[in-house]
Amino acid sequence: MDCVFCKIMNGEIPSEKLYENDEMFIIRDIDPKAAKHYLMIPKRHYKYLSEMTIDDSAALARSLGKIPELSEKLGLQNGYRLVINQGDDAGQTVPHLHVHILAGQPLDFPDLRK
Ligand code: AMP
Ligand code: ZN
Repeated sequence: MDCVFCKIMNGEIPSEKLYENDEMFIIRDIDPKAAKHYLMIPKRHYKYLSEMTIDDSAALARSLGKIPELSEKLGLQNGYRLVINQGDDAGQTVPHLHVHILAGQPLDFPDLRK
């Protein structure tokens, strides 16, 4: 599979896994957009939320539920933002669904129409 996140999952591309379980793993984003920028990546390869199976959605819900447990380890105590980019308008660049975790500073919320 020619997918950067599958290659990281399999150890073909080195990246420190800050957390890992049977369903997902968390790494640092290589090009951070905030003081703390992580990626939570489901282990099953699919690109869009619309491709999720019932099992995928249950796994994603469990994975989101892990984030508060990891709050101290990841430095999320002061708040965080989760982002899932879907498709071209959102600028999705990696075709493997992932959740951005942004934190570590006040996160402004710009009016994107401007
Ligand atoms: P998206 O634009 O939502 O598809 O996000 C893809 C993210 O993956 C970007 O923020 C990239 O900086 C990040 N990324 C790409 N390659 C790597 C890598 N090898 N290790 C960590 N993050 C990566
Ligand atoms: Zn993949």
